Amino acid sequence: MKKKLKVFKFGGASVKDAAGVRNVSSILKSFQEDPLVIVVSAMGKTTDALEKIVAAHANKTGEAAFHLENVKQSHYAIIAELFGNEHPVYDDVNDTFVSIEWVLDDEPHPNYDFMYDQIVSVGELVSTKILAAYLNHISLPTKWLDARDVILTDDIYREGWVQWEETVENANKIAKPLVEAGGFVLTQGFIGSTKENFTTTLGREGSDYTAAIFSYCLDAESMTIWKDVPGVLTADPRIFENVAKLDRLSYREAIEMTYYGAKVIHPKTIKPLQNKSIPLNVKSFLDPTAPGTFIGPDVDDLYPPMVAVEKNQALLNISTRDFSFVAEHHMSHIFTKIAEFRLQVNLMQNTAISFAVCVNSVDDRVQKFVQSIEDEFKVVVDSDGLELTTVRHYTPQTLEMLRNGKIILVEERTKNTVQMVMKIVPELKRK
Ligand code: ADP
Ligand code: ASP
Ligand code: MG
Repeated sequence: MKKKLKVFKFGGASVKDAAGVRNVSSILKSFQEDPLVIVVSAMGKTTDALEKIVAAHANKTGEAAFHLENVKQSHYAIIAELFGNEHPVYDDVNDTFVSIEWVLDDEPHPNYDFMYDQIVSVGELVSTKILAAYLNHISLPTKWLDARDVILTDDIYREGWVQWEETVENANKIAKPLVEAGGFVLTQGFIGSTKENFTTTLGREGSDYTAAIFSYCLDAESMTIWKDVPGVLTADPRIFENVAKLDRLSYREAIEMTYYGAKVIHPKTIKPLQNKSIPLNVKSFLDPTAPGTFIGPDVDDLYPPMVAVEKNQALLNISTRDFSFVAEHHMSHIFTKIAEFRLQVNLMQNTAISFAVCVNSVDDRVQKFVQSIEDEFKVVVDSDGLELTTVRHYTPQTLEMLRNGKIILVEERTKNTVQMVMKIVPELKRK
């Protein structure tokens, strides 16, 4: 029987250096008989470095070329380690970086987000060029696919929304024949294209989502994301001690935790997979044969307490200026504006004449939203060191530990979930 397609995603940490590229290649070697689409992010912290180029160019600090040179040199060093001094991939990668030079030769584009996408997308383009060349170099036949030929988005730069109908059609027309021809198909995470062929990005950490888009469009048998952790853990190991790996998680638990900030999977990843019942494995690229975490349909599992922390929160208190009830007519207007500025609402509470909402504070979106409603409403914003902590399957001990040293500004509790908007208590010091 013909084997069904698998989709793999390797993030920046897995390909941060030449040893990483070799390690990923050795994992892939054991899947060479499988039809496989491989989605890869930019190497290491390249996206952060490319963001610096964008900011430097926009603010005309004169440092954009210097930052670009650093990014180029780190990639050439990896290429040199993998291929020696002569290989066609040098020219291919260099030609890709030239597109950034063109942007820098011009005056900063008035649309920052547009310019951002044209520059930042280069990270994924070069990482996939290097990995594809390396896989072919070690005799693992691999075809490089431009994700922008498949993933169509709207023209909201930095957070393109997928146009599903066209994307499914493109995947069937372009990606499917490549898969059927045999060998690996390797493509970029994070990037897409508008219908006018301008590059867009899907939002930071969006490569997981790309893999889910391909899984959905090509009816994959399963998707696997390869991480530097053994699987999904009960909390972020960078913040908490004594975390435990979850062997199995339902789509529902996974989407709840990732929406509220569990950084291990991009929150948009789950829906396309759930919609087609495609299982998601989260596995370690450091221990590839270990079972990891399996994410699939609901089961009657007993879950331990799971914690997600989302930093950079803004708490907005919106009240009517004329003492009219906030629930009358006003809500729909406020929500239209929230949608227009693409704010993620994490928690809300209302009284007779006021409405409190906690949102992710991204760039200047909160400020723009506030400006858009200030004529009608009084808005008080607190965004000073606020975090949102979400606990699923809470116990009194877990809540006590989390509250320690914090001021709780808003708390909401349901049967399975506690959410707290909190601030760190400033240490009192004697004069
Ligand atoms: P990638 O290289 O694929 O982009 P990320 O660095 O974005 O990977 O995500 C993996 C990291 O997510 C882990 O190293 C871990 O520190 C962090 N993380 C946060 N919350 C969790 C969690 N609940 N379970 C596992 N890892 C988590
Ligand atoms: N390279 C992009 C980022 O760092 C996308 C991703 O890694 O998922 O945000
Ligand atoms: Mg990531």
